[in-house]
Amino acid sequence: MPAAKDGRRPAGTAHCSACDTEATFYQVKKGKRKGFLYKRCGCGCNQSAGEPQQKQWLAEMTPTEEMIPHPMQAAEPEPEPAEPESEPAAEPAPEPAPRKGFAGLLLLGVAGLTALLMT
Ligand SMILES: [Zn+2]
Repeated sequence: MPAAKDGRRPAGTAHCSACDTEATFYQVKKGKRKGFLYKRCGCGCNQSAGEPQQKQWLAEMTPTEEMIPHPMQAAEPEPEPAEPESEPAAEPAPEPAPRKGFAGLLLLGVAGLTALLMT
């Protein structure tokens, strides 16, 4: 099967209101303008590389699976991923209460011993 004369496949389509036909968009495949769109429709071939034009096309066309990343699309600031809510710092575990009971027993013992010695 002979290769098609134009092997390029559209990166997107959109209705052109100027000529009332379905316009097809292609992308520059290499070089400094890789990813840039150009438009083909009844109006002819529009290769305007201006940013407003490129962005307008990006907005109006329906991308096909042939679409490769567009440089201006990539330049759009990505929405910042929402910062995960920082967990409130865990409160330090309270110091274990001093063992009053033990100290009390000790005091009692001392007191008892003292009492024994006093007698
Ligand atoms: Zn047109």
